[in-house]
Parts: sequence; C-alpha cells; structure tokens
Amino acid sequence: MKTIGLVGGMTWKSTLEYYRIINEHINSKLGRFHSAKIILHSIDFELIYSLQEIGQWKEITEIIAEASLSLESQGADFIVLCSNTIHKVADDVEKSLNIPILNIVDVTAKKIGEKGFTNIGFLGTKFVIEDGFFEYKLKSEYGIKVIMPDINDINYINSVIFEELVNGIVYNESKKKIFNIINNLIKKGAEGIILGCTEIPQLIKQSDTMISLFNTLDIHASAAANMALRDV
Ligand code: GLU
Repeated sequence: MKTIGLVGGMTWKSTLEYYRIINEHINSKLGRFHSAKIILHSIDFELIYSLQEIGQWKEITEIIAEASLSLESQGADFIVLCSNTIHKVADDVEKSLNIPILNIVDVTAKKIGEKGFTNIGFLGTKFVIEDGFFEYKLKSEYGIKVIMPDINDINYINSVIFEELVNGIVYNESKKKIFNIINNLIKKGAEGIILGCTEIPQLIKQSDTMISLFNTLDIHASAAANMALRDV
C-alpha cells in the first residue's frame, strides 16, 4: 500500500472527512484490521484564508509547496490537497515535487464522464469560480461545459461557506436557498451539480435530491484510497 500525503486544515472539518473516507475505503478493500497509510500536514486556515482574501496566491503556492515537500521527504508517495480552492496552485506546486498530486478536477471529471454528462452546474467558493481554473480544465481536457451560478448567487454561496460551513454551522434556510440555486442551474441545462467545495457536503447531501451530485470531497478521498492500492 502506498503512503498518502494529505495537505489539510482547509478546513479541518473537511480534512476529518478525508481521513474517515480514505480509511473506510482501505478497510473495505483489504478487510481485517487494515487502515490507510497517511501522513497529514495540517495548515492554519486563518493564514490561508487571509492570503486568499487579498489575492496573495504566490505566498499560498509557497506554503502549499513547503507542506507537500515535507510530506514527500517523510515518505509520501503522492499528495492530496484537501480543498478545491487550493487546486488553483496545484500545477505550480507539483512542479516543485518528485511525486504526483492527485488532482481533484481530474477525478471529478472522470466521475462525470462515467455518467455521460457534458453540461454540469457548479457550487464552490468565489475564488474557484472567479479564477476559472476548474471550469477551464473540465472544458479543455474533458469536454465538459460548466454552468456557473450568477454573481448574486456566487456571493451568497461564498457567504454560506465562510460564515457558516467552515465553522460547522448548518442552517436549513441556507440549504433551501442553495437548492433554489441548484434548481436554477438545472433549468439552465445542467445535468448534475458539482459540490466544488469540501465544506458543502455538510449542507447538501445526495439523499436530499434526485439530481446527480458530484461530491468532490467524497470523490477525491475515494480516488486517493484507490490510488494507494494501485500497483505502481
Ligand atoms: N475547502 C474549500 C474548498 O474546497 C474552501 C476553503 C478554502 O478557501 O480553501 O474549496
């Protein structure tokens, strides 16, 4: 089994879920008392959030690269960045490593492809949506067109993520409003919805709806477990 290097803390609530899901997958595949080989580097999210807010992505790249390098030097075989937003710097970070990063966009695209969908709605932080890296990679490498919420809805989703979910606060009212946004994306032609922020699954669950949801946290963590068990 390979050793997984998790760069977490963004936020720690979703990192906990990565840890749980990866271990559950490994145990269900290998049985008995097996669990995952994981090294976690958890970052103070206050620092990352402050830098995101002022657009200091160069500093963020350096912090994530340093964390990833330290995991590499401790024996990690590949890196998992436990946040969609942080994937904005994934390609640059990967250049400084000798081990791969399991990219959240690639594994999500694969799941969407398995369903045969080519038009997909997206929920996530304003950093991901405004930058466009997720959307661009899906379109250019996988032919999947992303339908984004309108600007008011982007701001609303962002406020729910940072004022509620990062602190584990889940309001029914927010859930209702986000389902309205999801329904609007479906009306605009989305065949399913990417939950493109690792905090959103606290609020929106597949059991709430018939609409196909692509929970990036679940997809990414499961793919990490599979990669750990794959032959080199
Ligand atoms: N965990 C989040 C994500 O998946 C957002 C937190 C952050 O801004 O890094 O995008």
